[in-house]
Amino acid sequence: MSSFLALANLGEQLAATKKKLEHSALIGAYLYSIAPNEIAPAARLLIGRIFPESDPRIVNISGAALSRVLEQVVGMEIEWSDSAVDFGDAVAQWLAAHSWTPTGEPLEILDVYHTFEQIADATGSGSRKLKDERLGSLFRRASVVEAKYITKQVSGEMRVGVSEGSLIEALVRNTDIPAATIRRANQLAGDVGAVAFAALTQGQEGLQALTLQVGRPLKPMLAQSVETIGEAMETIAPPLVLEYKLDGARLQVHKRDDDVKLFSRHLSDITASLPEIAELARTQIRARDAILEGEVIAIDATGRSRPFQILMRRVGRERDVQAMQQEIPVQLYLFDCLYADGESFLETPNRARWEKLGELAGEIPRVPRRVIESAAEGDTFLRDARAAGHEGVMAKNLASPYTPGERGKQWLKLKPVHTLDLVIFASDWGYGRRHGWLSNQHLAARDETTGEYAEVGKTFKGLTDEEMKTLTPRLYANKIRQVGPTVYVKPEVVVQVAFNNIQRSPSYPSGVALRHARIVAFRPDKTPQEIDTVQTLRAMMERESG
Ligand code: AMP
Repeated sequence: MSSFLALANLGEQLAATKKKLEHSALIGAYLYSIAPNEIAPAARLLIGRIFPESDPRIVNISGAALSRVLEQVVGMEIEWSDSAVDFGDAVAQWLAAHSWTPTGEPLEILDVYHTFEQIADATGSGSRKLKDERLGSLFRRASVVEAKYITKQVSGEMRVGVSEGSLIEALVRNTDIPAATIRRANQLAGDVGAVAFAALTQGQEGLQALTLQVGRPLKPMLAQSVETIGEAMETIAPPLVLEYKLDGARLQVHKRDDDVKLFSRHLSDITASLPEIAELARTQIRARDAILEGEVIAIDATGRSRPFQILMRRVGRERDVQAMQQEIPVQLYLFDCLYADGESFLETPNRARWEKLGELAGEIPRVPRRVIESAAEGDTFLRDARAAGHEGVMAKNLASPYTPGERGKQWLKLKPVHTLDLVIFASDWGYGRRHGWLSNQHLAARDETTGEYAEVGKTFKGLTDEEMKTLTPRLYANKIRQVGPTVYVKPEVVVQVAFNNIQRSPSYPSGVALRHARIVAFRPDKTPQEIDTVQTLRAMMERESG
């Protein structure tokens, strides 16, 4: 059995080098050095994703809980260092400063992994105590560097430069299995742990067993953004096809005989929350076994699309399902066919997949779609989509295969961008390439009634390296205090922020949170008193959900 210390030390070595080849060599040597049953957990821990994407479990421990447990274990209050680059680093610096020494048996990889599983499985009354105890038992046995990596795992900030991509790259370089076989297996399995295990212990044959399987979700194909139909036509040569982009939730519908499972974009099983859709799929799909894809939207009495916010009250929610079915009726629109009766269509061009979908869909509608030859035709279709209450359009290459998990140029999305003016009131120290810069901006809107600034989102997107370099000293000069890696500043820097939509937030006192926020410009012409208000955001949210 292998020590957790070796994994933590590997993390340190990986963080110390940016060289990709070295990363691959280190990861390869490590994975070969551990026991077969440790490979999958170790691979997942290395990329900082404790459970595979298709596994709904989460560890769910807040920063406050983590600090509380650490303080109990060490027996004193945490002091946060100013120079820490992330939570894990801050914890390590504090423990080292107090000459921390662990007690009990040294940790093994499986001890840590199984404890994370127990923490994730703890629910209901008494679960907080149980989670604290389990986490405490790990910290008690952890050396400084191990505590650093446990903290990184739990806080979801691995930050050692190992992405899923680099782990796959390491498997490619350290085995003689063709790269395409490994990549494909990863797209289909949605679990680097299973892929690493199969590649290293069973070789090509093991990976081939990780093929499309009804009942096991695969990663959805993704789209890049474009601004105009013209841009879409430059990227995908005409004729290309446009489809309405419905603002709902993506669904992967898996049917085997009479058994139907619905998976979300993040591969969670959400069948129980949408029984009428499962029933529709069971009775309508004209195949014994099939994997189809579509978008489920909330609709009003006239069949018109209702906003995403409303739909979110149903998706994944398993309480009061019957009442919710009445309150928020939903409709499925299909747009792809990945598999039917023993045949995979992943390599089949989009045009033929669409035709196959037409044969299989029964009474389930497909999304409105039109093949276009000119920008004028495209603009008309886009106008129709918006007039019908939809977000925009998707442009797809008629000749392209279905590439699971890839955000390529074969699918493009075109939708409107909203912006707000907000102020930066805190910022996190960056890591990796952003080390030494305040790079994750916490954004606030002004509360009209109190005059205070209230958090509405965070983003590390939109600023260039140069902008981040000049922004860092500006923010730091306004520092009020630091908590872990977060520097709180006097709210002065106003930025224009684009986002996809506004959601109700149980965790922010403002009650609202921006989805997919990114900074598009500095607004030196605006003072913090002139920024958008929490009340405006709430009104926008209500309108979206009205
Ligand atoms: P976004 O979430 O903004 O990245 O846009 C991509 C998402 O749009 C997909 O994951 C689907 O959930 C959704 N979508 C809506 N209509 C379509 C469509 N016709 N084809 C593909 N995806 C669609």
